[in-house]
Amino acid sequence: MLDAMMRAPVGDDVFKTDPSVNALEQKVAELFGMEAALYFPSGTMANQTAIKLHTRPGDQLICDKYAHVYNYEGGGVSFNSGVSCKLIDGHRGMMTAEQVKQAINPPDFYHSPLTSLVCVENTTNKGGGACWSVNALEEIKTVCAENGLAYHLDGARLWNAMAKTNESAETFGNLFDTISVCLSKGLGCPVGSVLVGSEEHMKKALRIRKVLGGGMRQGGFMAAAGSYALDHHIERLEEDHEKAIALGSTLAALPFVKKVEPIETNIVIFELDETKMSAETFISKLKGKQILMIAMGDGKLRLVTHMDYSDLQHEKVLAVLNSL
Ligand SMILES: *Cc1c(COP(=O)(O)O)cnc(C)c1O
Repeated sequence: MLDAMMRAPVGDDVFKTDPSVNALEQKVAELFGMEAALYFPSGTMANQTAIKLHTRPGDQLICDKYAHVYNYEGGGVSFNSGVSCKLIDGHRGMMTAEQVKQAINPPDFYHSPLTSLVCVENTTNKGGGACWSVNALEEIKTVCAENGLAYHLDGARLWNAMAKTNESAETFGNLFDTISVCLSKGLGCPVGSVLVGSEEHMKKALRIRKVLGGGMRQGGFMAAAGSYALDHHIERLEEDHEKAIALGSTLAALPFVKKVEPIETNIVIFELDETKMSAETFISKLKGKQILMIAMGDGKLRLVTHMDYSDLQHEKVLAVLNSL
């Protein structure tokens, strides 16, 4: 990847003349069968741009209570777009079409915020890496179409979902108005996300990205890492999923682990029996062995496997867990 970055031809992406950025954008647009794409420095900026595209100040979007756009983007929904979130109490970060339908404010009831957008996340981060069924996503699309709502997919972890379910990128491209995908999570790039959608949406997104301070000049050095990752780092994602399953079954066998949530992709969320070991003690014991982890709140702990988590490190972590 570093070699590919060093060899990248570059220009000035502020003028849209960086060949490596343009090539990455074209590659991702083609992959999803959508008209156009735009490169971003982060997934947060890509999602925030999509929300800005589809809404006006005072509007409301619908998302699950676990959604990244609601929980982990610094309040950007209100800061950047002046929009509120109607939260749905879904299952593992996923909601049903019926729940979405119930959450829409009647457009003629002018006392309530106007519902204009539905955001879903695949895989769900706080939902433990769970994957949506295409059928459930289609049902929500129908609700969106019937009610004139835009439909955005936060696909920061979509590569993991596709590796797990064997669905094609075009399948998702056909469903959504916009999709954001991360190059810096499972695919191992230092930075970068891409937003895909229609030509018209991406033209507007370019202006919004500029306003958010996301205009980049020789961005091609970074974009080349993204193209490299798309060519070389997707096929190996299954290895991360296998390691997550091994971590989960090792954890489940420990006497002080109360519950391990079902593991579908590369995220392992688990809870300890606090009468036997506190999360604080567990974290500090692991830290003593150079294994770092953080708590997710509500007594939940999270491990995430990724390409820089090697076989050797994995063996070490399993051995340490078994020795506790
Ligand atoms: C990480 C993540 C993002 C944001 O990505 P950044 O590049 O860290 O801004 C968005 N959505 C989900 C589901 C994520 O996991």
